[in-house]
Amino acid sequence: MALTFENTEKAFAHKSDADLAKAYRLFKTFSFPFLVNYGPKIANWAMTMGVPIKSLIKKTIFHQFCGGETIKESNQFAKELYNNRIGAILDYSVEGEGTAENLKKTFQELKRVIDEAANKPEYPFAVFKPSGIGLSSVLAAKSAKDDLSKEQQNQYEELVERIHFLCKHAHQNNVKLLIDAEETWIQDAVDEIVYNNAKEFNRDDIIVYNTIQLYRKGRIEEINKQLDLARKFGYKIGFKLVRGAYMEKEAKRAQQMNYPNPIHDTKADTDDDYNLALRICFENRDIVALMAGTHNEESSLLLAQLIENNNISKTDNRFWFAQLYGMSDHISFNLAHEGFNVAKYLPYGPVKEVLPYLSRRAQENSSVKGQSSRELSLIKQELNRRKALK
Ligand SMILES: Cc1cc2nc3c(=O)[nH]c(=O)nc-3n(C[C@H](O)[C@H](O)[C@H](O)COP(=O)(O)OP(=O)(O)OC[C@H]3O[C@@H](n4cnc5c(N)ncnc54)[C@H](O)[C@@H]3O)c2cc1C
Repeated sequence: MALTFENTEKAFAHKSDADLAKAYRLFKTFSFPFLVNYGPKIANWAMTMGVPIKSLIKKTIFHQFCGGETIKESNQFAKELYNNRIGAILDYSVEGEGTAENLKKTFQELKRVIDEAANKPEYPFAVFKPSGIGLSSVLAAKSAKDDLSKEQQNQYEELVERIHFLCKHAHQNNVKLLIDAEETWIQDAVDEIVYNNAKEFNRDDIIVYNTIQLYRKGRIEEINKQLDLARKFGYKIGFKLVRGAYMEKEAKRAQQMNYPNPIHDTKADTDDDYNLALRICFENRDIVALMAGTHNEESSLLLAQLIENNNISKTDNRFWFAQLYGMSDHISFNLAHEGFNVAKYLPYGPVKEVLPYLSRRAQENSSVKGQSSRELSLIKQELNRRKALK
């Protein structure tokens, strides 16, 4: 197979020298713990106090990882990706307090995201986080099978209705809809709601995608269970496979509340389950559509090989690769260049309100062994390659 992730020329063809130098400087700053830990807090404070730093944030970290403050502003970045055969997934990344007003506002915005995706081929999916439109505390109580108060029951029913509305709206507009996975202690309730919608809307095409986090123990059994149910009741399933983003939070809560950590003991266990899940989904492709949401080269290569070795069209709509905007372009652009289906989450929202999202990206890119050094060395490699040509 011709696919390799080493080709930085293809990976960064869409970036000018100046863009690359800017990205290099940004990723470099993530090696300063003070900036990573306190930068977003200081920025939040400064913006609250009316210090005019918004345009600085927008020109630097915001535009590395986000499209714009609105859907309209993000459209040009989606177009740019689409020119490179990469889809965009508008990700409304506002993480405000879960007040009734905020939850409703997010719900209304999500309807607009689906409407936008319905009209534009550059948006092959829409996405949402259940905790953005309903209360985590209610989902936690429901997952723990606690008795809900009358108020909680109403809030739960409102969330069920909202998710149903979004799935139905996506179905009517033929937009594939991803539902993100969050903390284990709210996930059982989310899974139940999502699979009920899959049962209703994944009869012919696959519209509703649930997310499986393979850093959790026992998720292979869960996938097999869901496949059995889908076969028994005659519907199809969309799975977005990810490793999982809340490892530290999960370990901390398990320790505090004295229950076994639900996360695998080693990274190798997570990797093994992730790759096994890819294979299981692939083998069940008569009823499964799959998105590999990962920045891991080995897993991306594995899915590409499965597709190619089984003579399946690279543009088969059942198989998608996805990365986050501003990260792992070497995977996204090289896959797209080889003709595979690729999309990138394109976060957007008002600068001040996406600061928590940006803070997480900075944290994730701060460890020396992790993503940051990968991004830095790739950018450096490309800058050196271009310099040698001059
Ligand atoms: C398109 C897309 C959508 C996503 N959607 C979600 C989502 O809905 N929900 C969600 O939770 N996350 C989501 N993520 C984030 C994802 O879960 C990972 O945190 C992130 O992608 C890093 O994992 P990786 O597969 O890219 O690869 P790698 O960099 O190879 O793996 C890092 C991951 O491995 C796991 N890991 C690391 N160390 C250990 C250890 N010692 N023991 C066990 N496991 C370990 C952790 O999950 C860690 O994030 C998404 C990512 C992408 C690209």
